[in-house]
Amino acid sequence: MHPIFHSESKPFVIAGPCSVESRKQLHDCVTSLETAAPVDMVRCGIWKPRTRPGGFEGLGEPALSWVDELHERHPSLRFCCEVARPEHVELCLNHHIDAVWIGARTSGNPFSVGELAQALRGSSLAVMVKNPIAADVSLWQGAIERVLQAGVSDVAAIHRGFHLYHDGVPYRNKPLWEVPVELRRRMPDLPLLCDPSHMGGHRRYLEALMLTAADLGYDGYMIEVHPHPAEALTDREQQIDATGLRHLLERLALHRQEGDADIRLNILRQQIDAIDERLIQAMGDRMEISRKIAQMKQACHMAAYQPQRWEALMRERIAAARAAGLDAGFMRTLYETIHAESIRIQEDIMNNKQ
Ligand code: PEP
Ligand code: MN
Repeated sequence: MHPIFHSESKPFVIAGPCSVESRKQLHDCVTSLETAAPVDMVRCGIWKPRTRPGGFEGLGEPALSWVDELHERHPSLRFCCEVARPEHVELCLNHHIDAVWIGARTSGNPFSVGELAQALRGSSLAVMVKNPIAADVSLWQGAIERVLQAGVSDVAAIHRGFHLYHDGVPYRNKPLWEVPVELRRRMPDLPLLCDPSHMGGHRRYLEALMLTAADLGYDGYMIEVHPHPAEALTDREQQIDATGLRHLLERLALHRQEGDADIRLNILRQQIDAIDERLIQAMGDRMEISRKIAQMKQACHMAAYQPQRWEALMRERIAAARAAGLDAGFMRTLYETIHAESIRIQEDIMNNKQ
C-alpha cells in the first residue's frame, strides 16, 4: 500500500472532530472540510480517554459505521481515530479506518503499547504515536519502536505537548520543542506532525504553534475541527470550524512564501558579501600602490598631494560613475574619502613614519 505519512504533499493535514458526537455532526464536518479546507485525512474520536469519569466517552462502534458511509460517498477520503485497546484495532480493521493513533495517555505505557503493537501486526493500518504526557523522549521513542517492530511500516510521531503542574505558560500542554527535536535527531526519517489543538488548549494559540512547527520543519498537523465548535461535547475551546482551518492554512502558506522570500534575500546578501570582499581587496591593492607612489615621490622630492592629478582623476571617475548609472555626489564623497586616505598613507611614508 502507498505510504500515507511519507507522501510528497507537505504539510500533511489531518482535521476533524475531537469526538464523533452524531451521524449528522460527522457528515457536516466532512462536508464543510470538503468545501472550505480539503485535508489529507479526517480525524474522528471514537473512544475518548477522559481524565475523570462522567464526561462524554465517545460513541464507539456505531460511529465507525458512519465512517463507512462517508467512505462510500468519498472513496478517496482517509479516516483515522485513536486506539487504546487491541479490541479498538480489531474494530478499525472491520471498518474503513486508514490510520490509527496511540494517544498521550497510552503511549507512555509499554504494556498497552505492546498489546496494541501485537494487534497491529500484519495489518495495513498506518500508525501515529503521540508523545506521552511526560517529557521522556526515550519513552516516546520506545513506543514508536514497539510499533515498528510489529512490522508496521507507515509510522509517524505526533507532538501534542507535555503536561506540567502549574508551569505558568498559557498552553494546556507545554510544547518543550526540544523534545521532538531530539526525537527527530534519533529517528530522522520519522514523519513528525504537530497537534496544536491539544497543545494550546484554546483556538487562539493555534496559529502561533503552527508557525513554530513550520519553522522547525514539521511534516504536518493534526487539528480539531467541529462544524459548531461552541456546541462540542469535548475540547470545546480548542476546536475550530472548517473556515477557521482554511484561514490558518492560508496564513501558513503565506508564512512559507515569506520563508521563500528569506531564502531569496539571503542569496542576494551573499552576492553583496562577495562584491564587498572584492571591493575591500581592491581597496587594499589600491593603497599598496599608493605606498609605492609615495617612495617614488619622496625620491623625486615631490609633494604627496598633486592637485592637477587629483582634479583630473575626480573628473574621470565622476564621468565613469555617471555612465554606470551611479550618483555623481556619491562618487565624489567616496573618492574624497579614498583620496584622503591615500594622501595620509603617502605623507606618513614620506615623513618616514612607516
Ligand atoms: C485526541 O487527540 O483526541 C486526544 C485525546 O489527544 P491526546 O492523546 O493528545 O490527549
Ligand atoms: Mn480532543
